[in-house]
Amino acid sequence: MGDRMRTIPFGDLLEWMMKEYREEGKVFGLQKNKFYISRDKAKMGTAFGMSLGSGTGPAAGPHTQLAQNILTAYLAGGRFIELKTVQKLDGEFMREAIAKPCINAEDEGYNVEWSTELKVEEAQREYIKAWVLCHVAMKEFGISEERDFAFNMSVGYDLEGIRTEKIDSFIEGLKDARKVPFFNECLETLREKAGLFDSFKAADIGSISPVVCTTLALSTLHGCPVQEIERIATYLLEEKGINLFIKCNPTLLGYEYARELLDSLGYGYLSFDDHHFKEDLQFDEAVAMLKRLMEKARSKGLICGVKLTNTFPVRIERKELPGEEMYMSGRSLLPLSIGVARKLGKAFAGSLPMAFSGGADALNMKELLDTGIQPVTVCTTLLKPGGYARLSQIASTTAKKLEGAYRGIDPLKLEALSDTVLADERLRKDFREGTLSRKTGSKLPLFDCFKAPCMGEGNLPHTDEGCPLGQNIPEYLKLAGRGDFGKAFSVIAKDNPSPSILGNLCSHPCQSHCTRVDYDRTLQIRSVKKLASDNAQENFIEGLGRAAAKSGAKALVIGAGPAGMSAALFLQRNGIRTVVFEKEDKAYGQVRYLVPGFRISDDAIDRDFSLAEKLGVEFRFGCSEEHDIEALSTEYDYVVVATGPVLDVEGEGELHGRKASQASEILRAAKAGHLKAEGRVLVAGSGFQALDAARVLKREEKVTSVAILGSYGEKADWVPFDEKSQLSLEGIGFVDTIGEAGRIDLIVNGDSFPARYAGKPKQSNVFYAGECRTGSGAMVSASADGKAAAREILRREGIEDDMREFRLELKPQDIYIAKGALRKSLSSKEEGSRCLRCHDICEICTEVCPNRANAAIEAEGFGNLHQIVHIDGMCNECGNCTFFCPHAGEPYRDKFTVFWTEEDFQDSGNTGILKAGSTLKYRDTEGNVLTFEGRPEGLEPKVMSIIGSLLDKYPHYLLDMDGR
Ligand code: SF4
Ligand code: SF4
Ligand code: SF4
Repeated sequence: MGDRMRTIPFGDLLEWMMKEYREEGKVFGLQKNKFYISRDKAKMGTAFGMSLGSGTGPAAGPHTQLAQNILTAYLAGGRFIELKTVQKLDGEFMREAIAKPCINAEDEGYNVEWSTELKVEEAQREYIKAWVLCHVAMKEFGISEERDFAFNMSVGYDLEGIRTEKIDSFIEGLKDARKVPFFNECLETLREKAGLFDSFKAADIGSISPVVCTTLALSTLHGCPVQEIERIATYLLEEKGINLFIKCNPTLLGYEYARELLDSLGYGYLSFDDHHFKEDLQFDEAVAMLKRLMEKARSKGLICGVKLTNTFPVRIERKELPGEEMYMSGRSLLPLSIGVARKLGKAFAGSLPMAFSGGADALNMKELLDTGIQPVTVCTTLLKPGGYARLSQIASTTAKKLEGAYRGIDPLKLEALSDTVLADERLRKDFREGTLSRKTGSKLPLFDCFKAPCMGEGNLPHTDEGCPLGQNIPEYLKLAGRGDFGKAFSVIAKDNPSPSILGNLCSHPCQSHCTRVDYDRTLQIRSVKKLASDNAQENFIEGLGRAAAKSGAKALVIGAGPAGMSAALFLQRNGIRTVVFEKEDKAYGQVRYLVPGFRISDDAIDRDFSLAEKLGVEFRFGCSEEHDIEALSTEYDYVVVATGPVLDVEGEGELHGRKASQASEILRAAKAGHLKAEGRVLVAGSGFQALDAARVLKREEKVTSVAILGSYGEKADWVPFDEKSQLSLEGIGFVDTIGEAGRIDLIVNGDSFPARYAGKPKQSNVFYAGECRTGSGAMVSASADGKAAAREILRREGIEDDMREFRLELKPQDIYIAKGALRKSLSSKEEGSRCLRCHDICEICTEVCPNRANAAIEAEGFGNLHQIVHIDGMCNECGNCTFFCPHAGEPYRDKFTVFWTEEDFQDSGNTGILKAGSTLKYRDTEGNVLTFEGRPEGLEPKVMSIIGSLLDKYPHYLLDMDGR
């Protein structure tokens, strides 16, 4: 493994493209149903005279470094391809200068990369290969009859570097590729391989224009003086005779404006001071310079415009990436970039051509193009799950904007857009619902790795693992999306003992892990569950009868809260006669007696109770709280103690030296209808009881204000944003210190309650489950703890449990088609149709890799539809796949790897193979290397299957680069 990418010879690229297309219906992993073919063949006129088949394309960056990346972007709908920047420093030097990982697109994007990691000559060859490949693909795949795309080169960073022989040859070679012998070599290879194609004919080779670029984007470093920018621009216009876009920085907005804007959208944690703002080009200087340059361009029959904007530098303070400073992009950059566009649009009354990137995506592309800004390129959105396939949707949104000749910018529309953008909730930090990462704690397996991160493992409560109950979420979402609530509910009831209660109250850790958060919005899983319960639970209960006993064992559960009810239901349903002792006169104690009625009705609680009751669980209410566990453990075969948390302070306690009421007391009094409170209230704590207490108090007539003293400061990452904004809407404020709350009449202690028990019980047939074991926690975790106890008992009795047994069969193509596309939120009823079925097909590492270095292959003998192989030679260790893989692991290190050179094989510890001629080397998971002449033998079956599949079906992945 190494961060060095190997470039693929042109002939191999052609063969790879056609083989993959013919045999698998995709090209470099992009499914052919994601190829973008403009239906009406309309073209967009541009300021620089070219007509484009869509208004978008990949921005200069990771998607435009290698030929296969550019080809994939073209196929998906990119028609304005912004080639990655080149400068005099390149190759080895750049690879060493760029810390890895260098990309983090988990939410708003960050990177620490800059110009190409290839040598400049290599980069030029990649761009020429891509240029020819796109011509071939255009004809071969029926995309367009005539060229509908443009390449835009980018150079930096100072005049001295740009005038070097190396950069000058680069520019001249892309202005006219006939000056580069490699261009003719590509055409010659194309002639030799003409037999590969159906629709691309030998005669088409002659129509491949040698003019690769007629436009150039100038990139300068922060702090570059205005005089230097103008000198370079003048040189490029006057001596290179090329249309020019000057990349501008968001720093044109001024420090105060940028800081306030980002703070107001919730990005207060972004750390930057004013030094770039002071040192960079100033707005008035920019306007004056651009006016002069536009005039110079006009006199040469060229155009000079701007590219808005460069990424925005911020300090690295939360270890997002290595180093000290990183460049921000994505949704937080959009308002800044629009802000710059608005200012420039006004200053030039629309006459300044503007190309754009900086947070654009499928849901705002139309509005951007509507202002006359174009083309609009994208990057961060392509780095998220869905990847290049998303470009297909983005391109289709531009179709209606392909309106012939370029008509300039409309400053009024731009102004209006800048206002609406600020009101777009998708740009607010808290839109991401408090989810930082979808990753879970599971080890990434070498094979069969697909995982729906919403589901959890089902036997690991209290870990950061999606649903602690391990519910079969994608299945019931799909069924509910089809309107089949009856079946959906029966799937829910398999794993969830309290569907109505959790449908109303669950803290939904499933949603925090939903892949869809990296698209648009997480699936509203809890709402769908509630909908299914509301529609189908009564009927389901009617059909229930007493469960048949499968063993002679008898179980006792002490406590009928969420954990006890869960243990009892699963035990009884799976054939173990179960008795429940409960001190209260009804089940679901805390839910029933403490949770406010406006959050859950008694009917919903009773409905869940009926599930266990109808199965034949025997309940004894009003029992004593004193239990002789030792005696009970001899009377019953199994005892599950699920008595809930203990309140360490009853009645009034102390908080910061002041008398404080307990949240539980407040809630109990409110539920019983005799709460008395007045004046200004401070609730200390941010757990669910604290939040409920605040809500209850806010509804009291004589309470004048309620504030919550939350532990949000240091742990701001974990603020439940959706709860917080909801509470703000209810008029409940947040304070960081008691002093901030002002005069206080009532303090409420909402802190967590301690657990009663610690350590293992003495009797081996006694289990402690739920909050009495773990302390105060989420209800769903208590429920899962009860389920885990039931599972263990069933295991000991040799009874196979009946959970998670339903799986829908869907056609892979129906799953692939949904990938990449952003959707606006749907009604709860339709919500299930947004589910991506990550457990059926994940393949996210293949989607998010800009370099196509992870591939999904078919192989016999596995559970998953496809197996993931990593192609070392295409990887530069950018790290993006790691951020999005739902397991704890790193696909580029942990998956079965194909190597192309001995050097790369030796540099790596990855399990995988190197094929050199007829010799095949295999490194196993222990690091042992075995060498085979011809086909390997005697390896474990799964490894044999993967290697066999690579040799027989995917020989194009096994490039032997040492032999070239
Ligand atoms: S998209 Fe569906 S399967 Fe994937 S995490 Fe979300 S709910 Fe689960
Ligand atoms: S495999 Fe992963 S680390 Fe390598 S280039 Fe692709 S996304 Fe980056
Ligand atoms: S991201 Fe890739 S490696 Fe991770 S689970 Fe999905 S398919 Fe497997």
